[in-house]
Amino acid sequence: MEINSMTKIIGLLGHPVKHSFSPQIHNYLFNKYKQNNVYCCFDIAENKLEESVESIKTLDMTGCNVTIPHKVNIIKHLDEIDNNADLIGAVNTIKNDNGILRGFNTDGLGFVKSILDKGYTLENKKIIILGAGGACRSIAIELASRGVLSIDIRNRSTDKASEIVNIINNNFASKALCSTKSIDDDDLYDADILINTTPIGMESDTCPIDESIVVNNRVLVCDIVYKPHNTHLIKWANKNNLDVVYGIDMLINQAIHAFYIWSGISANEDDKNHIRDLYIKK
Ligand code: NAP
Repeated sequence: MEINSMTKIIGLLGHPVKHSFSPQIHNYLFNKYKQNNVYCCFDIAENKLEESVESIKTLDMTGCNVTIPHKVNIIKHLDEIDNNADLIGAVNTIKNDNGILRGFNTDGLGFVKSILDKGYTLENKKIIILGAGGACRSIAIELASRGVLSIDIRNRSTDKASEIVNIINNNFASKALCSTKSIDDDDLYDADILINTTPIGMESDTCPIDESIVVNNRVLVCDIVYKPHNTHLIKWANKNNLDVVYGIDMLINQAIHAFYIWSGISANEDDKNHIRDLYIKK
């Protein structure tokens, strides 16, 4: 797409942003679907957040993505928040509707889409989630809204995990619980889906579960860590012949949903494959 006098900006607000893969994803989609937008990253300090949000209106930007550390603090600067983003308490996508800034959270949705894309269903499934941070919160709330049977959160500390459990038990039919206990064979024998939302495995040689565990059921193993692509958890799952969902799939799907919010266009499977190839070759 040629950049001209009508080109609109869509930005990523975060700190740091220099390793973000979002510009490649979105500029590919803008080009493919002839959207006269350009995607740029803005490294924003916490004390500049309010001014940055004002700029979305001043510069008549189409919208923004928001990443760490601003996903929670940005909410107070927006005009409207979508229901799920409100329950999650974090926003990762903003749409500028003629000066009204609306906030959404596409992280949980992107994760759920990665599971559905593999042909799995969610109704009545038993889920174990490792970690209880921002990503766990969006994923757990989205899973609960899709009718999973239970969500068992395992985290090294209990405060954030208990908060998520309360939100789910007070708002959805799914039964949520949490503990600090490590995963063992019995837990996995009973579960349908295991999801790692801790950063363990990110650029390191560690695994969020004991790699000597041998599994003899068909638990689906999902790691939302996307760097490296083949984390230790994914390698453990492969060794046990278990089906896997990669972190890059969630990243692509949350981006594709943000693209839909800005443009009204649904990207297709070819786009996902193209973006995944771009990422793996990177
Ligand atoms: P976060 O809010 O900082 O939460 C991290 C969670 O993991 C916390 O519950 C923390 O426990 C736990 N944790 C951290 N280090 C640990 C360790 N060494 N041992 C055991 N538990 C540990 O982070 P987040 O935003 O949820 O992100 C988590 C990971 O997901 C990051 O690697 C991020 O890159 C990835 N992510 C991927 C996508 C995607 O699209 N694929 C999207 C979002 C995030 P405490 O509560 O005790 O501190």
